[in-house]
Amino acid sequence: MDRKGIVIAGIGGNYDVFVSGGETVRVKARGVFRKEKISPLIGDRVVVTDEGFLSDILPRRNQMIRPAAANIDQILIVFALRDPDPHFGLLDRFLAEAAKQKIPARIAFNKTDLLDPDEDELLVSAAESYRKAGYPVFLLEARSEEEGPFNQLSEVRSCLSGKVTVLAGPSGVGKSSLINALIGADQEVGELSEKIARGKNTTRHARLLPVMLDGEVAEASDLGSWIADTPGFTSFYTQSIEAEELDQFYPEFLPHLGQCYYQDCRHISEPACAVREAVETGEITRLRYDNYRELYQELKQFRKEHPIYQK
Ligand code: GDP
Ligand code: ZN
Repeated sequence: MDRKGIVIAGIGGNYDVFVSGGETVRVKARGVFRKEKISPLIGDRVVVTDEGFLSDILPRRNQMIRPAAANIDQILIVFALRDPDPHFGLLDRFLAEAAKQKIPARIAFNKTDLLDPDEDELLVSAAESYRKAGYPVFLLEARSEEEGPFNQLSEVRSCLSGKVTVLAGPSGVGKSSLINALIGADQEVGELSEKIARGKNTTRHARLLPVMLDGEVAEASDLGSWIADTPGFTSFYTQSIEAEELDQFYPEFLPHLGQCYYQDCRHISEPACAVREAVETGEITRLRYDNYRELYQELKQFRKEHPIYQK
């Protein structure tokens, strides 16, 4: 009987598919995919036959180019609060790209142990300003198992439940450490670390790893909870954003769009701009607005330098 499953890895024409029932099978793709120039991606919902073939790819909800993956439910963007210091402009760029792709984004601020709650304002202010912008934010200390207000590992687990999640973030912020904390010790962590080490120097295919929920790997009835093993990817790549549409990818700008004096207001220096007024009243944080302006100029500049990509 044909079975449905999810592609968790693909190497040289072979695919590992986690099928309903909780088993992983290694199958080959039918030649028809090569002819049609479609290759199965991790995250693809597929049909596998008893003969060991991947016979059908179900329609994709979305598709990411880097890492090459399909049907991504969410992106968990990891930044450290120290070592390296967070680059919020880069974080906002990741958030805008996820929004462009219509993939929900969540934020994890790691290495909270390197800050002092009484001295370092950043520890709470970073979380507050992104929650205010409408994003779920988790504070983490990925190397420690002790949970608390500054290490919300169980909240992260709940957020991953039943979903396929891609991690993104600069290198050195703790993505590998977080993956290890999430997948549990019984899952060949050694082998994983080795793969991660290799991943830093070579391009390789990402794979999906099962996330442990409440001490057990989700099984059987559903297709489980998965996290893409992508510490080698410091960012993800989607279609490029046009400067003119950038404001739509800032959730906290949305209530103000259409309220500006000029219909095509870009919220830079135009008079009677509702977005800038919201910055004045504190409804939109200065941090997010300044990053918007910077990213807007950057995208405009890119267009100028690459007219060949003009729509
Ligand atoms: P990646 O490049 O994003 O995969 O980051 P790694 O997981 O390799 O972590 C980079 C470095 O930060 C390693 O030396 C980790 O041990 C360390 N690290 C990871 N998480 C934490 C944390 O929560 N606190 C502290 N102090 N160090 C951490
Ligand atoms: Zn405006």
